Amino acid sequence: METEFEIQCPYCGEMIWLEFYPQDGGHQEMIIDCEICCNPIMTSIRFDHEGHGDLIIDRAQ
Ligand SMILES: [Zn+2]
Repeated sequence: METEFEIQCPYCGEMIWLEFYPQDGGHQEMIIDCEICCNPIMTSIRFDHEGHGDLIIDRAQ
């Protein structure tokens, strides 16, 4: 099962590792702060039946 995802910060371009766990419904949204530039990043992930996650990120501002 896929639980770790590498994203690129949309503000500073830094690569960040995130961890997600599939839950009922398979869809989660979360706002995290970049560890480097501290800007808010909106993350939206959808898991399919096989536990593969499809992650979308965007600026939360
Ligand atoms: Zn950043």
